[in-house]
Amino acid sequence: MPATPAPATTPRRSSVTETVLTAENLVKHYPIKSGILRRTIGHVRALDGVSFELKAGETLGIVGESGCGKSTLGRMLMRLEEPTDGTLTVDGVDVYSLGRSEMRRMRRDIQIVFQDPYTSLNPRKTVADIIGEPFDIHPEVVPKGGRRKRVQELMEQVGLAPEHINRYPHQFSGGQRQRIGIARGIALNPKVLVCDEPVSALDVSVQAQVVNVLEKLQDELGLAYVFIAHDLGVVRHISDRVGVMYLGKMVELGTEDEIYERPTHPYTRALLSAVPVPDPTLRGTRDQIKLQGDVPSPANPPSGCRFHTRCWMAQDICSSDEPQLIARADLGGAHPSACHFAEDSVVSGTRKASD
Ligand code: ADP
Ligand code: MG
Repeated sequence: MPATPAPATTPRRSSVTETVLTAENLVKHYPIKSGILRRTIGHVRALDGVSFELKAGETLGIVGESGCGKSTLGRMLMRLEEPTDGTLTVDGVDVYSLGRSEMRRMRRDIQIVFQDPYTSLNPRKTVADIIGEPFDIHPEVVPKGGRRKRVQELMEQVGLAPEHINRYPHQFSGGQRQRIGIARGIALNPKVLVCDEPVSALDVSVQAQVVNVLEKLQDELGLAYVFIAHDLGVVRHISDRVGVMYLGKMVELGTEDEIYERPTHPYTRALLSAVPVPDPTLRGTRDQIKLQGDVPSPANPPSGCRFHTRCWMAQDICSSDEPQLIARADLGGAHPSACHFAEDSVVSGTRKASD
């Protein structure tokens, strides 16, 4: 019997092992222009060869300091930026080769929620207009005359009172505004929602509520998330896997357990040491690492391993050879880590645990 398409309100998650998105070697270089002739004098290497897969219904956390290319990655996944290089496949479709009208259809499958709930919503539009905006481009997803009802359903789904449908963004709190952004993000019933620091601008007490809404929606709709944040604390709870980025590269990629309990990249360990440990019995078991210096410019990244200028483990090889993000068979198939000395990190981690 042929499979009938699932209605919008039932979970679409068929199997968690199904790959919904594949990013291969994504590169984005922005030209740096100078002078009256606006000559290109260099490039900001915002994203410099990032690859990963996303499974249906999973959450991939992406973390890294400000300026490391997270938002650029998010926009590339939506094709809001044209790639300098790389391939993006969503549901088997090669996204960067699509023409305009095919791209329009593709946008239904992958949507984005932006960081700032204050500037990402048009202050002159009502909630009805904002959440219903995707229907202007895709009128086929709502029955004729059913638009208002659908917006109210979406409001209920994200925990907003449907009777507030005619209000303006300034009449809502920061957390509520982000719920409006999320409602707009799920309006087309996408398979993937890219969340670019969706809670970073919110008070800590409100952050958890918004994360809870996202988790509830994932259970109901089988959505996959790419959840971007600048620190490891925020993404732990929601992520199945986490990718750590540094200067346009992904330097470590693993399951939540691998990244938080058995990190092998020194940069990940440094980021982790900045995350407060809630369990007092575990305090002091984690490395205390304070990173020296600032992040180097992505217009002129360090040779070899880009982290070597700030790494306390760096040897000669680190400034000459670029380590690849690969799973190391010699480390018992440990998760991918782009460090020449990942092995030493594992050993020192083990020693620490048995002390
Ligand atoms: P993040 O989201 O991790 O803070 P971004 O992706 O916003 O990082 O930026 C990565 C780098 O690319 C930064 O150095 C930023 O200044 C640069 N960048 C981002 N967008 C542009 C653009 N449109 N033109 C030029 N440079 C850009
Ligand atoms: Mg950003």
